[in-house]
Amino acid sequence: MAGFRQLLRNTPQGLYCPPGDFHIDPTQPVDHAVITHGHSDHARAGHGTVLATAETLAIMAARYGADFAASSQAARYGETVTRGSVSVTLVPAGHVLGSAQVVLKWKDRTAVISGDYKRRRDPTCPPFQPVACDLFVSEATFGLPVFRFPPSEDETAKLLKSVALFPERTHLVGVYALGKAQRLIRLLREAGYDRTLYIHGALASMNALYEAHGAALGPLAHATDDARNALPGEIVLAPPSAIADKWARRFADPIPAFASGWMTVRARARQRHVELPLVLSDHADWDELTLTVGELKPEELWITHGSEEALLRWAQLNDISATALEIAGYEDEDE
Ligand SMILES: [Zn+2]
Ligand SMILES: [Zn+2]
Repeated sequence: MAGFRQLLRNTPQGLYCPPGDFHIDPTQPVDHAVITHGHSDHARAGHGTVLATAETLAIMAARYGADFAASSQAARYGETVTRGSVSVTLVPAGHVLGSAQVVLKWKDRTAVISGDYKRRRDPTCPPFQPVACDLFVSEATFGLPVFRFPPSEDETAKLLKSVALFPERTHLVGVYALGKAQRLIRLLREAGYDRTLYIHGALASMNALYEAHGAALGPLAHATDDARNALPGEIVLAPPSAIADKWARRFADPIPAFASGWMTVRARARQRHVELPLVLSDHADWDELTLTVGELKPEELWITHGSEEALLRWAQLNDISATALEIAGYEDEDE
């Protein structure tokens, strides 16, 4: 960690860049913040200035109100902004709408802070762009070899097959409001499912925001508009907390499903009373993490959060010096 401490260091508020005087995804209010994406553990309200993509700023405004920061500045992907003696460029992270990696250039060094990312295709945002760097800062939410996610299309097919098998029951799918909901909807549309999808009210504002940014979601309706309608044979999308809630009892013999990388772990599915686990994640799995670090071959790897032990060992075996930052306050949304 020593070699890069002048450029980037870990503070109680999160990562801080001294020569540019800003924090990246700070976990507490700071004077100047650069935000990688709109998930609530990375994008918090109350900073002085915020630099992020226009999409991330729109997500923050939708969630916190227009006054989420004293001032904000949008940067396009690939556009370079100067802060002090540092140049800052946002490039796609492939995680959710507007998600960006933060590329810092200072003197002859390049550091990439990837935020949350994934490598597989997502029809709702541009793909992760690898940037050669000396220091790579990575998450490790699913940093264990047991986390190997199947193709997303297989999981969508699994859901549609179950819908065909149980036409008298409602499929109630738990999805995170930002990213997962819209990605699953787009994947269902790509698989040819063109019927109305029924939506819990808590997902409506992010769906509208995605549509305003060009992600066509097809016919959607509020799940609870008609009290008499138990929606047999239909798909209902709801926040994960709602699928085991009293709210779920209005539907026809519902099949609780949950779209999450955590559904790799059977015990997690059982614990949440999930009958139909769908392994669909917006994070990198073990293969994507090691592929990315192996491809970039940075001098140093810093791991912000997650299961860092195995990735630390993997990096060391591959002659990459690696450090676990153990930043508190980054959690998978709704977990
Ligand atoms: Zn995230
Ligand atoms: Zn995160």
